[in-house]
Amino acid sequence: MNFSLESIAYHRGEFLPLKECDVNIATHAFQYGTMIIGGVRAYFNTKTKTLYFFRLADHIQRLFRNAHILQMNLALSKEKITEIFLELAQRNKIQNNAYFRPFIYKSALQISPRLHDVLDDFSIYTIALDSYLDMNKGLRLSVSSWRRVDENMIPVRVKSSGGYINSALAKSEVIQKGFDEAIFLDSRGFVSEGSAENIFIVRDNVLITPPVYANILEGITRRSIIDFAKDLGISVIERDIARGELYIADEVFLCGTGAQVAWVQEIDHRKVGKGELGPCTKMIREHFLKIVHGEEQSYSKWLTPVKN
Ligand code: PMP
Repeated sequence: MNFSLESIAYHRGEFLPLKECDVNIATHAFQYGTMIIGGVRAYFNTKTKTLYFFRLADHIQRLFRNAHILQMNLALSKEKITEIFLELAQRNKIQNNAYFRPFIYKSALQISPRLHDVLDDFSIYTIALDSYLDMNKGLRLSVSSWRRVDENMIPVRVKSSGGYINSALAKSEVIQKGFDEAIFLDSRGFVSEGSAENIFIVRDNVLITPPVYANILEGITRRSIIDFAKDLGISVIERDIARGELYIADEVFLCGTGAQVAWVQEIDHRKVGKGELGPCTKMIREHFLKIVHGEEQSYSKWLTPVKN
């Protein structure tokens, strides 16, 4: 991932080069992780030379819902934040696939881990990003010994930066053992999700994904796949997945804004299906990539084009 310190970001109400976007060490969010992070992709269609945000309105709505849970009050409206995204894309003259990372954070210089009566602010930067996980090679996953944080500890619907310690523990654990990505079980022992991705398995041509109460982040990519799978004639069920089912699934894939649709070859040293990119995952991945690049008219409602 290449950070360009010259790229334009938005911080404290101004468009600035990323290298000038500093945060004081006494900032509440820096001390307590009281910050919401988003992750939005924009795809550049090389034929039409158009940059499209994927589900921008849904990402902004999730940010605001997250902010509500963390008692954050922003002076900026959803409309204003949408404008900032678009202006940031224009100012950076983006002609590649890009990732946008917005933050709503407790910006006051303050001691005491609380939510109320602490000022909030909004910042955002962007980087060029093609793949976060390799989509071509099959991933080797392992079930982490760390459980997914429970809803009554840190609400999992919130993409809180403090909450990502949970992901970091699991991801480092399995990568340091030689795997590519971690799978979390929830506090009941059912499959939850990856460290930064939702999970789907295929059994007998049915797509199965854990329900929202399995302590998952309510992923926008997950929801999109559930919605468009029917067009491909694939049935989807949201239900609990037992750990053992991971090992006997015909296909498994991870999905998310960063990961897109990344297929899994092996879990805990057991080959998934034939150890190849399976037909169902392939269809989902191809359809997804067409949709996000503006090549599926019926899903243009999910895209926001950026004017040059
Ligand atoms: N779960 C976690 C823990 C994540 O960090 C992400 C990435 N945002 C996802 C799932 C996928 O969510 P989305 O499709 O909205 O990016």
